[in-house]
Amino acid sequence: MSRFPGVDFLDVDTLLTEEERMVRDTVRAFVDDKVKPIIEEHHREGRTPLALVPEMGALNLFGASISEYGLPGLGGVAYGLIMQELERGDSGLRSFVSVQSSLVMYPIYAFGSQEQKDKWIPRLATGEAIGCFGLTEPDFGSNPGGMRTTAKKVGNEWVLNGSKQWITNGTLADVAVVWAKTEDGVRGFVVEKGTPGFTSSDQHGKFSLRASTTSELGFHDCRIPADAILPKTTGLKNALMCLNQARYGIAWGGIGSAMETYYTALEYSKERIQFSGQPIASHQLVQEKLAWMITEISKGQLLSIQLGRLKDADKLKHWHVSMGKRNNVWVARECAKLAREILGANGIVDDYPVIRHMLNIESVYTYEGTHDIHGLIIGEAVTGIPSYNPPERSEKPAKKVETPVGAAR
Ligand SMILES: Cc1cc2nc3c(=O)[nH]c(=O)nc-3n(C[C@H](O)[C@H](O)[C@H](O)COP(=O)(O)OP(=O)(O)OC[C@H]3O[C@@H](n4cnc5c(N)ncnc54)[C@H](O)[C@@H]3O)c2cc1C
Repeated sequence: MSRFPGVDFLDVDTLLTEEERMVRDTVRAFVDDKVKPIIEEHHREGRTPLALVPEMGALNLFGASISEYGLPGLGGVAYGLIMQELERGDSGLRSFVSVQSSLVMYPIYAFGSQEQKDKWIPRLATGEAIGCFGLTEPDFGSNPGGMRTTAKKVGNEWVLNGSKQWITNGTLADVAVVWAKTEDGVRGFVVEKGTPGFTSSDQHGKFSLRASTTSELGFHDCRIPADAILPKTTGLKNALMCLNQARYGIAWGGIGSAMETYYTALEYSKERIQFSGQPIASHQLVQEKLAWMITEISKGQLLSIQLGRLKDADKLKHWHVSMGKRNNVWVARECAKLAREILGANGIVDDYPVIRHMLNIESVYTYEGTHDIHGLIIGEAVTGIPSYNPPERSEKPAKKVETPVGAAR
């Protein structure tokens, strides 16, 4: 398997520290050596590449921003570069690491008790334990504040009832971070696999993120101990803080996916001969596509690095993250389409990574806040006016319409 040389039109490498380049190169080699040889098969068969989990743990790819429990405490840019390289391999693999790190280890670390941290962080860091994050419900995606899952305090226990949908790693998880409504608002809970009343099953028929497991979770009078609550959670905003961490990584990941489809299309266009013995790269229409891709990738790389520098300076706002996620995933989606065109018929077979990235990016475009919802978050930041709910009608509606309460994502 040949080594990926990188995509760096604007010499953005010079903006990275030696440590950041080293982290990037380590994950880049892991993706070339371990991920690329097996990923098409896993995607085809709809299987998560679980054999890679301990290897990713050994490379400290889970919880890499945490600096306790022997974890490396990497800065924002180094963490982002991990996500970029993993998503160059596969969006499903990057999703696995995002969920484990940002949606499970982060909330346990930030909002958990000492006992919860000591129990779960070391096992999640090695990959000995797998986690999932249950927020979305069948009727509440962009508007999680409307959730119906409840947690009721009964004696010395919490009793959970409700269901969660579209949960990455749901059936694989040893531990689920679940968000539920209590008398005091939304709180996070740690629910262990095997707890009576807790069920999970896989969602089938997915044509996107096939190398990632997506599941439904059910809670039917599921009794968990009083200390299963994440004690420092106070509301939905804590769930949104987790999503902000994950979306930051996705902003980097999108560029990783775009780098892979661009590089594949570039190499292909130089080799593929049509008309008078000329490679298709010699045609202006093909060059225009490549020029568009490299321009947008370069802009996305600069955006990601600035987000990382803001993160490390503690100045990163959630609307900055929205811009990164929205722009870079859109760039990845457009690059996948253009690369697919350049590859002609070979663009639709998995001998090349393009069609897999093209299908994967559809999930990434929708999850962790859809493209449009991030547009509304940016719109609110610049105008000061939230526009998630429909505007009030001037005339009284025939029937009162309840608008669901809660922050959008
Ligand atoms: C593969 C995959 C993995 C996932 N993993 C997880 C996970 O691990 N944990 C988890 O909790 N969730 C997960 N999700 C769920 C994901 O976060 C939701 O799908 C996402 O939030 C969008 O919700 P929805 O699909 O219900 O779409 P909807 O909210 O129904 O939106 C449908 C469309 O309406 C638009 N729309 C909605 N509201 C507005 C508005 N106010 N203004 C304008 N347009 C609007 C949206 O932009 C979108 O185009 C996953 C999803 C996928 C596909």
